[in-house]
Amino acid sequence: EGVVSCRGLVKIYGEKGTSVTALDHVSISFEESKLTAIMGPSGSGKSTLMHCLAGLDSPSSGEIKLEGSEITHMNERQLTKVRRDRIGFIFQSFNLVPTLTVKQNITLPASIAGKKIPDERLREVVEAVGLTDRLSHRPSELSGGQQQRVACARALVTEPAVIFADEPTGNLDSRSSRQILEFLRRAVDVYGQSVIMVTHDVDAAAWADRVVFLADGKVAGELISPSRDMVL
Ligand code: ADP
Ligand code: ADP
Repeated sequence: EGVVSCRGLVKIYGEKGTSVTALDHVSISFEESKLTAIMGPSGSGKSTLMHCLAGLDSPSSGEIKLEGSEITHMNERQLTKVRRDRIGFIFQSFNLVPTLTVKQNITLPASIAGKKIPDERLREVVEAVGLTDRLSHRPSELSGGQQQRVACARALVTEPAVIFADEPTGNLDSRSSRQILEFLRRAVDVYGQSVIMVTHDVDAAAWADRVVFLADGKVAGELISPSRDMVL
């Protein structure tokens, strides 16, 4: 059944007459402890799919299950709790708070939720992303790659079951991209987390266990173990 799955997912934006069908009956299941890439042309519905699966946007119709629970009928309070406790987010533009330090950024979601991250846990994650000597820096004092590693640490520090990454390497050079992908790979292989990553970067998708292709709001195909098949 999968850690995340959807059935007959439809998302229509706008009013009748000028409406856009962003998702057109998408049914798909994401296996636990896998890194799945979602690819497709611009406008094919990748972001919409991810936002719906993550409970950030509500579909027009269809079902979404996250760890066995139907989320489409949840109210905003229940959804907030699921997002907070079970989901981590990584965005293309890092989305760090400029006025806060690296340490404060990493612990922010937890502190909003009224939780304290144990020092030991914080140290582990910060070490894993190689930012131990940057804890009191502000985002503006870091490179793009370092900022994205802060975002990775923030997404992982609460040990979410599922990490949604929207073009996580979109603004990074190849070396920084590689660090982020190694980190996501390790989240899957060592810690059993599930990663769903939207990307248009074939090099990034080659790190995935599976690539799902969207076109015109529909699933257009997929590849298993793409690194063996994709020409890099
Ligand atoms: P992708 O991520 O693959 O580029 P999106 O999910 O962003 O695709 O968009 C899918 C379709 O939905 C596009 O035609 C886009 O213009 C439309 N769309 C996305 N967001 C909105 C919105 N907030 N309002 C209206 N149309 C939207
Ligand atoms: P080591 O595994 O040798 O301790 P690593 O650099 O691989 O060194 O990781 C350091 C610590 O960071 C790990 O012990 C682990 O607890 C934590 N860590 C790294 N990646 C993750 C992750 N994806 N999820 C949870 N904890 C992680």
